[in-house]
Amino acid sequence: MMNSEQIIAVESQYGAHNYHPLPVVLAKGEGVYVWDVEGKKYFDFLSAYSAVNQGHCHPRIIGALTEQAQKLTLTSRAFYNDMLGKQEKYMSELFGFDKLLPMNTGAEAVETAIKLTRKWAYEKKGIPEEKANIIVCDGNFHGRTTTIISFSNDPEARDNFGPYTPGFIKIEYNNLKTLENALENTDNVAGFLVEPIQGEAGVYVPDEGYLSKAKALCEKHNVLFIADEVQTGIARTGKLLAVDHEDVKPDILIMGKALSGGVYPISGVMANDEIMNVIMPGQHGSTFGGNPLAAAVVMAALDVIQDENLADNAEKLGKLFRVEMNKLVAKYDIVKSVRGKGLLNAVLINDTEESETAWNMCLKLRDNGLLAKPTHGNIIRFAPPLVMNEKELLECVAIIDKSFSEF
Ligand SMILES: *Cc1c(COP(=O)(O)O)cnc(C)c1O
Repeated sequence: MMNSEQIIAVESQYGAHNYHPLPVVLAKGEGVYVWDVEGKKYFDFLSAYSAVNQGHCHPRIIGALTEQAQKLTLTSRAFYNDMLGKQEKYMSELFGFDKLLPMNTGAEAVETAIKLTRKWAYEKKGIPEEKANIIVCDGNFHGRTTTIISFSNDPEARDNFGPYTPGFIKIEYNNLKTLENALENTDNVAGFLVEPIQGEAGVYVPDEGYLSKAKALCEKHNVLFIADEVQTGIARTGKLLAVDHEDVKPDILIMGKALSGGVYPISGVMANDEIMNVIMPGQHGSTFGGNPLAAAVVMAALDVIQDENLADNAEKLGKLFRVEMNKLVAKYDIVKSVRGKGLLNAVLINDTEESETAWNMCLKLRDNGLLAKPTHGNIIRFAPPLVMNEKELLECVAIIDKSFSEF
C-alpha cells in the first residue's frame, strides 16, 4: 500500500495541477471525522466547502444511494423515471417554489439561472434581443465556467480564459447605494445575482437588512433577485437558507453542494411558474440532471437536515464557536478577528494576504488533528459538518487554541 507521500507524488505526476491541496491524504470519513491513509483521525473543518453538512457517509443517505443504485441509476430525460417527480414535489413543498430544474454541479445551476433570467427578460420583461444585463457583486464566486469567470474579479480564475461573456455589471457587495445606482442608471437590467454571504471571498456577511432591501429594490425595478445558495444553503448558516434570516424569497434560488450531503454531485434551480415556464423542451438540460439516483439521495439528504434539526444546531454551535474564537482573538496576536453566521465562519490571520502564515497555520492545525484551508491568503474558513455536537466543538476549539499557542 502507498503512503501519503507516494500518493501525492502520483497525483502530482499524472493529474492536472488545477488545485493546491493541503498535504493530507484521506481514505475514510464518518460524521465529523476523516482518517488519512496512515490511520490518523481528524476533525473535518471544511466539509468539502459545505457539501458535507450532513456529515461524512451519513447512513441514511448512503442507504438511499445504495438501495436506488441497485434498481435504476440513469434513464436520461428521454424517458420519465419514477423518482424525479417525487424529488420535485418534495423540494417544491420544502422550499416553497412552483418548480425545480435539476442539474448536477453548482456552476451548472448558476448557468441555468443565468439562462433562465435572460430568457425571462426577453420574453416577459421585453428587453431587446441580446441586450439583457445581470448585476453581480465584486468578490463573487459562482463557479468555473467560461461565462461565470467572465464576471469574476479573481485574476487566477479569469486571466487568459477570455474572450469573456458580456452582459454582466459588477457592483460593490453589501452596498445598497451602488445597487440602486446600477438599477436606476443601467438599461435593460434583467437580474441581480448575489451570494447571501460571500463564502469563497472569505465569509463576508453583509449588513443586516442588505438582502431584504436589495430584494425590495429589485422588485421596484422588475429585476429578478437571484440567490446563489450553493454554499450558504441547506442549514449551513443556521437556517435552511441564508436568505431566511431576512425572510427574503428569491425569484430564482440556486442550490448545490449539501443538497446531496456530499455523496453525489447534485444541484438545482427553483422558481415559480411565471419564470420557470419560459424554458421549453430542448432549450436546456443535462444527461445526468434529474436522474433517479440523485432524486433518492436528495430526499434522504434533506430528510436528515430536517429530522436532525441541523439548522438549529448550526445556529447554536455557531454562536458558541464565535464566542470561543473571540477569546482567542483577545489572547493571541496572530488572530485578528472572527466572523460568520451559523457554522460558516472565518478567522482572519494577522498577516498580509500574500503571506504564508494562514497556510502554515493550517499545517499546524492538521498536525494537531483538525483540517481547514485558507481562502484568499490570510483568511481561514472554519465550516465543520453540522452534525457536530457541543462537546466535539469544544474539543476543536481546544485544538485551535493549542495550534495558535504553538505558532
Ligand atoms: C461552490 C460554489 C459554486 C460552484 O459549485 P460547483 O459544484 O463547484 O460547480 C457556485 N456558487 C457558490 C456560492 C459556491 O460556493
